[in-house]
Amino acid sequence: MPVMRAMVLERPGTALVMRERPVPLPGPGEILVEIAACGVCRTDLHVIDGELPDPRYPVVPGHEIVGNVAATGEGVGGFAPGARVGVPWLGATCGVCPYCRAGRENLCDNPLFTGYTRDGGYATHAIADANFCFPLPEHGDDAELAPLLCAGLIGWRSYRMAGEGSALGLYGFGAAAHILAQVAIWQGRRVHAFTRPGDEAAQAFARSLGAVWAGGSDEMPPEPLDAAIIFAPVGALVPLALKAVKKGGRVVCGGIHMSDIPGFPYALLWEERHLLSVANLTRADAREFLALAPQAGVKTQVRRYPLAAANDALADLREGRLQGAAVLVP
Ligand SMILES: [Zn+2]
Ligand SMILES: [Zn+2]
Repeated sequence: MPVMRAMVLERPGTALVMRERPVPLPGPGEILVEIAACGVCRTDLHVIDGELPDPRYPVVPGHEIVGNVAATGEGVGGFAPGARVGVPWLGATCGVCPYCRAGRENLCDNPLFTGYTRDGGYATHAIADANFCFPLPEHGDDAELAPLLCAGLIGWRSYRMAGEGSALGLYGFGAAAHILAQVAIWQGRRVHAFTRPGDEAAQAFARSLGAVWAGGSDEMPPEPLDAAIIFAPVGALVPLALKAVKKGGRVVCGGIHMSDIPGFPYALLWEERHLLSVANLTRADAREFLALAPQAGVKTQVRRYPLAAANDALADLREGRLQGAAVLVP
C-alpha cells in the first residue's frame, strides 16, 4: 500500500510530529492531491496553539496547498490527472444554510476548513473537495504560488472591504500585506506599511515593494489614511488604526483570530469611521483574485523549508524572522 508522510498536530500546544499513513483514496466528489508546496499561514499558529473554537485532533495543518491531481473520486469532472490545483482554507460548505443560499458561503453555518477541521497540506498528499479546489496555471513556481491561496485570497477579500480610497495602511507586513501591497501599488494607491516598532528589515522590505512610507505601528502615517487593513493578530492595533484613518475611513480586521481590543474613546470611531472584520473567503473571491494576481504582476517572496522542518518554519513565522511567506516543500 502506498504511504504518505504528514506533519501532524496531535494535541494543542505541541510540536508537529512526522507520521506515515496509507495514502487515502478520494471519496465521491473528492480529489487526491499530490502536494508540491504548502504555505505556512499565521492561522496555522492559532490552530496549533488551540486558539480557534471546536478544533479536531489529530490534524494536519496547512491551507495554502499547491499540488497535482493524483486521483479523482466518483462524479468529479473538470480535473484531469496531473493538473495543477490549489486548495484553500475554505474546504467545504453545506450549501443549504441561509448564508450559503445568500451567496455568503464564507459565513456558512456548517463548513469544513482545510488544515483545521479537515486534514491539510503539511504532507505529501491530501484529500480535498473538488468543488472547493481551483485550477492553477501551468507556469509559475509551486512554492511562489502557495501563499496566494490564503494570504492572497483572504487578503484580497480584506482589501476589497477597505474600499476605493487611495491612501491605504497595512498593519503587519507579512505574507498577506506583501501581496496586497503589490496589488494596491499596481492600482495606483499609496501604501503605508506598519510593522512591529523597530523592525527595520520589514520596513525596508515594504519600501522595496513600493510603499510610500513604512514605520512602526505606534507611529502616525505622514497623511491621514482612507483605510487600513490589520493583518497582525494584535487587538491593540485597532484603536491605533482608527486614529490613523480620516473621517469616513475604514479599518478592516483581516485575521481569523486577534487578541482582545483595548477600550478606546468613542471619538476614534465617530465621524462615520467603520470597523469591520473579514471571515474566510468565498470561491468567487478566489476566482477573482487568482485571475487578477498575474495581471498585477504579483511576485511572492518565499522561504522554502523541507516538510520535516515545519516546526522551524512555524517558529520563524512566530518570531518574525522572515520576510514574505514560509512555504513547505515535501
Ligand atoms: Zn452553509
Ligand atoms: Zn491562512
